[in-house]
Amino acid sequence: MIEYKLTNKRKIMFRKPMTFMERIYLPAVLKGMAITLSHLFRKKATIQYPEQKRPMSEVFRGLHILKRDEQGAERCTACGLCALACPAEAITMTAAERKPEEKKLYREEKYASVYEINMLRCIFCGLCEEACPKAAIFLQNDVMAPASFEREDFIYGKDRLVEPLKLN
Ligand code: SF4
Ligand code: SF4
Repeated sequence: MIEYKLTNKRKIMFRKPMTFMERIYLPAVLKGMAITLSHLFRKKATIQYPEQKRPMSEVFRGLHILKRDEQGAERCTACGLCALACPAEAITMTAAERKPEEKKLYREEKYASVYEINMLRCIFCGLCEEACPKAAIFLQNDVMAPASFEREDFIYGKDRLVEPLKLN
């Protein structure tokens, strides 16, 4: 039978026999322990999050906030542009008509009675912030969505998104 080879680059490998020092393993164990010990005295690469927090970049995009105006009324008019701009389809809302007695609560005649962001879908791209014509939604640069074991905890409603009222 004729054997055809594609190239002549074939290399036959042989296992090198272990030396005496390699066979007793002790130098390798000591070397490993020395590496471990040397790491004890180095500056730690990790921090005790969430008790400790690293300073964030000014352009970091974290958890959303629905802003109020100077009088404390919600800016969002439920126009839906943020939901339209969202590539992850993470935003849902329900629009409602403002009643005359609610003038102080909502800036415009229409407002979002329900506004939800699914943080498991969100990729924190900031397009919702850019699309908003009312400067109502922003991504905070110093707050992250906290971790949780429950999926429901990542559906953020108005109770967690709307800016708290300033009392003074
Ligand atoms: S940050 Fe991006 S992905 Fe997240 S809700 Fe806004 S538009 Fe959608
Ligand atoms: S947050 Fe802005 S873009 Fe989104 S519905 Fe409200 S007003 Fe419209």
